[in-house]
Amino acid sequence: MPLITATISPVEIVYSVISALLGLVVGSFLNVCIDRLPHGESILNPPSHCQSCHHRLVMADLIPLFSYLRLHGHCRYCQSSIPRRIFWVELATGIIFALLYQHYGLSAELGIMVLYTGMFIIIFVIDLEHGLILNKIVYPGMMFALLVAIFLSPLWLGDWPSSGIVNAGIGGGIGFAIFLLLTIISRGGMGWGDVKLAAFIGFTIGFPLVLVALIMGAILGGVVAVILLVTKKRGRRETIPFGPFLSLAAMITLLWGNNILHWYIGLL
Ligand SMILES: [Zn+2]
Repeated sequence: MPLITATISPVEIVYSVISALLGLVVGSFLNVCIDRLPHGESILNPPSHCQSCHHRLVMADLIPLFSYLRLHGHCRYCQSSIPRRIFWVELATGIIFALLYQHYGLSAELGIMVLYTGMFIIIFVIDLEHGLILNKIVYPGMMFALLVAIFLSPLWLGDWPSSGIVNAGIGGGIGFAIFLLLTIISRGGMGWGDVKLAAFIGFTIGFPLVLVALIMGAILGGVVAVILLVTKKRGRRETIPFGPFLSLAAMITLLWGNNILHWYIGLL
């Protein structure tokens, strides 16, 4: 089988574009979650409003990417600047949704992936902005991942061990154990949030993919830490939140984890 299929049918392209557009809209909703969840606010009520002047936003203010660009990143009513993150989260979610469709096609797996990815994006940004990994995302995420493993035995969990729940349980256990150890060794460099997130990731992708995600997260975190240190953007004693790297690695693993695993096994 060729590694990359050169031809993509027009139908595939149309579905990919639809997925990307849906991703933009979902990205806009993820921004609402990112704005409100750390403050304990409801994500449904009140309707979308400016974070500065609290003016209710109308349809024209809520078109993903477009509204941000048209208003040059400023609120239409009070001119206060809107975080650039709004734009990037929308764009990233659009791209990731198109990639997820390419990988999973129209399937139950795609729906599950969309939910996981949404949670990982929220965790990524909230940890980056607040240094927090919220239980109200991680705990429901864990429950959901275990239910998926029990009732669906998802394909990406692979075929060893044969039961989805055993596989997910081992993945979660490994994530939990490794990060518990790191938390103890690092004495505050990592927190409980990271331990729970690693367990959650393990439940979603199982064993052995959990190892791919954790190692990739460590490499990404290490590279960025060195870059920040060299460019003097951060001091030697400042800690860097690890959740964003873990979340990013988890999303990459959901997309290409099996390819990475086979490539690595091929090296041995
Ligand atoms: Zn405003």
